[in-house]
Amino acid sequence: MKVETVDFFYLSMPEITTNADGSQDALIVRVCAGGLTGWGECEASPLVSIAAYVTPMSHGVCRPVSASVLGQTLDSPADIARMAAMVSYNSMDLLQAPHTWSGIEIALWDLLGKARGQPIFRLLGYERAHAKIPYASQLFGRTAQETLEHARAARRAGFRAVKFGWGPFGAQAVEADVEHLDAAREGLGAEGILLVDAGQVWIDDVEAAAARLPALERNRVTWLEEPFHAGALGAYATLGARTNAVKMAGGEAAHNRYMAEHLIEFGRVGFIQIDCGRIGGIGPAKQVADYAAARGVAYVNHTFTSHLALSASLQPYAGVSEHRICEYPFQPRQLAVDLTSSHIRPDGNGEIVVPETPGLGVEINEAALGHYKVDVEIKVGGRTLFPLPPRA
Ligand SMILES: [Mg+2]
Repeated sequence: MKVETVDFFYLSMPEITTNADGSQDALIVRVCAGGLTGWGECEASPLVSIAAYVTPMSHGVCRPVSASVLGQTLDSPADIARMAAMVSYNSMDLLQAPHTWSGIEIALWDLLGKARGQPIFRLLGYERAHAKIPYASQLFGRTAQETLEHARAARRAGFRAVKFGWGPFGAQAVEADVEHLDAAREGLGAEGILLVDAGQVWIDDVEAAAARLPALERNRVTWLEEPFHAGALGAYATLGARTNAVKMAGGEAAHNRYMAEHLIEFGRVGFIQIDCGRIGGIGPAKQVADYAAARGVAYVNHTFTSHLALSASLQPYAGVSEHRICEYPFQPRQLAVDLTSSHIRPDGNGEIVVPETPGLGVEINEAALGHYKVDVEIKVGGRTLFPLPPRA
């Protein structure tokens, strides 16, 4: 097969807020080859990512992503890896390229899985997919009382694990953070798995983060996620050395496998969290999963949008039985719900497993592509670069 077309769909809720909620807009990718269609999702600013696909070349290693994809042969996972290497080299000075490529890469896996009649995890070498414990991923409430109610709601919905993140946490007084942590534990109950995401709020201030450690430990928080800037590796290692009970977590910001591997090696995190929509897709995420497993670090998916992205995020470690926890978008915006006509739901045990059906195993709802569509036109020198011309 040859990659014939790559199309982008910029979708958005009518209103975008400053909440750290990535499900408010979306960039969906459709790839056609050999009479088949694959779908993927980028986790990034849609407009900037579209621009990285169509931008005029600036020089030899600042080419648009399209230059390394269109017309390429797609017959095996090795072809996807070959295209990834081309994008990495030909677009090395185009910083958005990994984000744009991520959605294309996922769509190529989806298409290849459909061509072979196999789910993606099997193309990655896993015999079977193991059930994961989904954690309800949500934002801290504006008040401790709201956090308490959110935790209770997640527990009522059947979740054994809950993650709270962002919101006021970390930017307010230590005492106020302690109230939120106590409320989260109270709402979740004594047995639940409690996770906390600081959203990089302390940048590289180890003492500010350490001031919260006693309350994190007392509430038996399993991991503290992104206390610092993604590149502040020394701060991660220093804070991690000051507690035996709470593991450091991070990795969602990695837009190549090396960033994630450095966080493991030098940041000494206990959990590595990978977003397939950023790191370059499913292939590099699987490499990180292998790297983590060999070092006793648990791999966790990062995803906060649609079930297309959720399925992609689960594939790289679907076959690893001992890495049990997975992120599950608990209250995504309607756009992310409507985007697919099939969904990955918890079973009777409250666990989820990736679909056995070919590719990602999640059906796109094409009506939603029209309903939430944002009109975009990119013109350079009088020539229209986007929308892309229809297939000849
Ligand atoms: Mg996070």
